[in-house]
Amino acid sequence: MSNSWKIETNAVQAGYEPANGAPRVVPICQSTTYKYDDAQSVADLFDLKAPGHMYSRISNPTVEAFENKMAALEGGVAAVAASSGQTANTIAIMNCCPAGGHVIAASGLYGGTVNLFKFTLKKMGVDVTFVEPTATDDEIKANVRPNTRVIFAETLANPALKVLDFEKFGRLAKELGLPLIVDNTFPSPFLCRPFELGANIVTHSSTKYIDGHATSVGGVIIDGGNFDWTNGKFPEFTEPDVTYHGLIYTKDFKDAPFATKLRVQWIRDLGSYMSPMNAFLSHTGLETLHLRMERHSQNALRLAEFLEQHDKVSWVKYPGLKNDSEHELAKKYLPKGCSGVLCFGVKGGAKEGEAVMNSLKLAAIVVHVADVRTCVLHPASMTHRQLSEEALKAAGVSPDLIRVSVGIENIDDIIADFDQALNLI
Ligand code: PLP
Repeated sequence: MSNSWKIETNAVQAGYEPANGAPRVVPICQSTTYKYDDAQSVADLFDLKAPGHMYSRISNPTVEAFENKMAALEGGVAAVAASSGQTANTIAIMNCCPAGGHVIAASGLYGGTVNLFKFTLKKMGVDVTFVEPTATDDEIKANVRPNTRVIFAETLANPALKVLDFEKFGRLAKELGLPLIVDNTFPSPFLCRPFELGANIVTHSSTKYIDGHATSVGGVIIDGGNFDWTNGKFPEFTEPDVTYHGLIYTKDFKDAPFATKLRVQWIRDLGSYMSPMNAFLSHTGLETLHLRMERHSQNALRLAEFLEQHDKVSWVKYPGLKNDSEHELAKKYLPKGCSGVLCFGVKGGAKEGEAVMNSLKLAAIVVHVADVRTCVLHPASMTHRQLSEEALKAAGVSPDLIRVSVGIENIDDIIADFDQALNLI
């Protein structure tokens, strides 16, 4: 997937190369299946001996274009699209950490991921230990067990806005012989490229900035092709797969064993692939990723600076602010901008915050982030409401926290909207 183009060019051009006379724009291949001239062609596909598509639960040309664009943008060797970000994280973990395994996760994660890790993975036989992102090497190592198989973190945690210390987590993962899986949803590959910073697998909720227009739920997993699955901890990669006549992923698919196994086992068996229509919309969304991420980041910084000065605001969290606790890490790992999400609290508390949210005119209350339209949400009563008080604290969600996803409208209009709403209380 690698080429010499810069990321802006890959956002526009990578993924789909039309043949002579073919449609200029990637077509929506709304077909469940594909037609072959002879039975042997299909047998070869089933045996993974020939490339091609046979059934759209496993691969599809439109989804493939989206996968190829994502692999090029992240600088990985292959990508696999999924029906949602939740699926992407679930199968990325299960692919290398089956039942009986253990995961170390940096806390401050998206609430849905916390629930998945604490309860649902447990039901599937996988234990997760949360560590503070600021924990020392020794504190993190003290949680490693003989069955630990993965370290997991978000680049820019939702909504705690903690910036991952790649140097520390990447170094530890390497030393321990464990893959580092990074959920890169909030920065998108335009603002951060985790493979260059020590990650081995990258996941996304493509529902967010990748689509960018709030049209399609989706997820994607990118294989960095930079992890040694033969280090003795991952027999599913090095021993014959009985469901494919004994093929061995690290031998038969040397370049991208993780992505291949993910597709032919987990996507095949769970039936959780992305639909062609969603892939088309996400692929189109990516064409403006670089422009949108720049504007989201500029607007979010301007709004954060405005809110910081407002006498009705008690606190603001945005890693781009000079006095933010994450600013040093942000300068190191997010030099092009800190994305479009910021959090703040209104003086008085949650009730006053709710009044401000209700008075906003341009910014809408929606259960979403990363849309071109500015929106707000109160995590404690919405996205994170299933979490206990203790889990809310660990996720960095205080009762008064308002999360703003700053859109790409004119910043003067966005600021004016927050100003009028704050001045009403
Ligand atoms: N990861 C992060 C960082 C998220 O913010 C979200 C959703 O908000 C998810 C994963 C889950 O993605 P989806 O809603 O597409 O399933």
